[in-house]
Amino acid sequence: MNKKGVLVVVSGFSGAGKGTIMKQLLKEHPDTYGLSISATTRVPRPGEVHGREYFFVSREEFEQMIDKDELIEYAQYVGNYYGTPRNYVFSQLEQGKDVILEIEIQGARKVKENMPDAVLLFVSPPSAAELKRRLVERGTEREAVIASRLSRAWQEAQGVEDYDYFVINDDLEECVQKVHSIIQHEHARTMRNHALIENIKAELKSFAEGE
Ligand code: 5GP
Repeated sequence: MNKKGVLVVVSGFSGAGKGTIMKQLLKEHPDTYGLSISATTRVPRPGEVHGREYFFVSREEFEQMIDKDELIEYAQYVGNYYGTPRNYVFSQLEQGKDVILEIEIQGARKVKENMPDAVLLFVSPPSAAELKRRLVERGTEREAVIASRLSRAWQEAQGVEDYDYFVINDDLEECVQKVHSIIQHEHARTMRNHALIENIKAELKSFAEGE
């Protein structure tokens, strides 16, 4: 099958558990996947490390990255900038890794516009009540922030149909298996295997002509 990696965009309501799913996916298949690390102007949550969860930068630094065209896409989310650095993504795809961008919906749309062969996957909790419970339980956000994340989730729900896949995160391990299987099946698409198909056609032609 083809050597080039698949670009995968994963979105989901804040609190859907997509971060946990992606970490588990990488843990189980470290040689298959690369997880892009975004830049953001949001302040780090307790336990978050610069260069691991995000590159935490100032607004000025972020705007410089925009000016220098260093980002594949960027968006504002609940008052902060978030963006995907270009270099890592392209180098990993060239090396044959499937690269995962864990980004919100506006960014996902921009990626699909610029790179139509990207696979868009939306992760959802089983219900809205469960989403609220997870956000409250996480305990890292003030009440006002939880309210704005829930209202943002409602807005994002309007765009779910733009995604290629919709995955429910009820049981973590099951969800990880499903996401892995979806991405690996993508490698078999004819549109990702033009070179191989052309090779086989050329060989067959020479056999046919030799007969
Ligand atoms: P959080 O503050 O909870 O880490 O992330 C808030 C939202 O920003 C999440 O939906 C997350 O997926 C999204 N996000 C993270 N990085 C990026 C990025 O590089 N670009 C865009 N467009 N969204 C991002």
